[in-house]
Amino acid sequence: MASKSKSTHNEPGDEAAESTESESALETARRQLYHAASHLDLDSSIVERLKHPKKVHEVTVPIERDDGTVEVFTGYRAQHDSVRGPFKGGLRFHPAVSRDECVGLGMWMTWKCAVMDLPFGGAKGGIAVNPKELSSAEKERLTRRFAQEIRDVIGPNQDIPAPDMGTDPQTMAWLMDAYSMQEGETTPGVVTGKPPVVGGSEGREEAPGRSVAIVTQLVCEYYDRDLKETTVAVQGYGSVGANAARLLDDWGATIVAISDVNGAMYEPEGIDTSSVPSHDEEPEAVTKYADTVISNDKLLTLDVDVLIPAALGNVITKENAKTITADFVVEGANGPITSTGDSILVERDIAVIPDILANAGGVTVSYFEWLQDINRRKWSLERVNDELETEMEAAWDAVRSEFEQRDVTWREAAYIVALSRIAEAHETRGLWP
Ligand code: GLU
Repeated sequence: MASKSKSTHNEPGDEAAESTESESALETARRQLYHAASHLDLDSSIVERLKHPKKVHEVTVPIERDDGTVEVFTGYRAQHDSVRGPFKGGLRFHPAVSRDECVGLGMWMTWKCAVMDLPFGGAKGGIAVNPKELSSAEKERLTRRFAQEIRDVIGPNQDIPAPDMGTDPQTMAWLMDAYSMQEGETTPGVVTGKPPVVGGSEGREEAPGRSVAIVTQLVCEYYDRDLKETTVAVQGYGSVGANAARLLDDWGATIVAISDVNGAMYEPEGIDTSSVPSHDEEPEAVTKYADTVISNDKLLTLDVDVLIPAALGNVITKENAKTITADFVVEGANGPITSTGDSILVERDIAVIPDILANAGGVTVSYFEWLQDINRRKWSLERVNDELETEMEAAWDAVRSEFEQRDVTWREAAYIVALSRIAEAHETRGLWP
């Protein structure tokens, strides 16, 4: 299920192949569920329920190609759990999309929303297609037809998709339009991550990178490190990596390395991150601006205080985990560390701040976008950023408290926070009928 393909838009899900060396995303998600449950005194029936998605929708999506032929694709929407609110999560267009992958990634969305205390459950979906092989018009037809096929199971109170690997704000605008045309009323709250001109939120695109930067700052504070004395290496210079690097640079950290698919720029004295274009500004340009180029593998092993893997999934593995020398790893991508890689980092006392907390700014500002849409009221960028900071600090405090009280890893602490909230909601609502 691992994918090494390049996508045009960078969400936490982008370019990530959230599975381990030998496990599928679903197996990993289930293993993490059992592991977190073992720290809590949970009713086994709740764990059993959470092992399974509530529903998985599989649809056939035929489109007319530009040459007049018809091609048929398969689309999915896996709705994992909605005990805390409507299903929420991205839609990806990628050849590796499968039923099980959507279920596993949907489970991660359930934990991510719960750790942030958002009133949402988790879902994920997508189409098994290589979007790079489609023209813009074909992508639009595919999105509109998919919207039609899943129309009955999505909606502002039911399930709210968002961008993910291979999809972007324009895809969300088409989806919103297709849904609205069929409903007979403009319904911006059916998707998030739209362009602001059609009900998207200010700050939504930058939000995953902003949350990574906020969490990095909180980690430094927690371990009594002055951000101004902190060195950082960032793998990936898409929206997550570039926004995180630029904010940390603004706040005084020294960014010594950044990278894209071609390699990494390394400046021990610090990179002026605003002078290097992000992937969205000029694709794959990092090495063009570099005096010293090193490999992406080498970037991971640099002797820095903080390492932020914000590109591919599964980049820290059993093969290279022993060579990581950073004190802290903040997961910008979804699943950048394999299970075995993670165990090695834990043994070596390297603190890892998990994706479900660090990159959760994306879904948090999605929640703000949904609130703005259903209330027909626009928030300023300043308000979005202020409220994001407040939410990140609250989630950090909840995770920190478990970390301290239970003597577990940061990842375990985040899962414990998420799972206890979900389990309590299940217990309180009870079983129907
Ligand atoms: N795809 C993003 C993620 O993995 C965002 C999901 C959303 O905003 O609903 O967190």
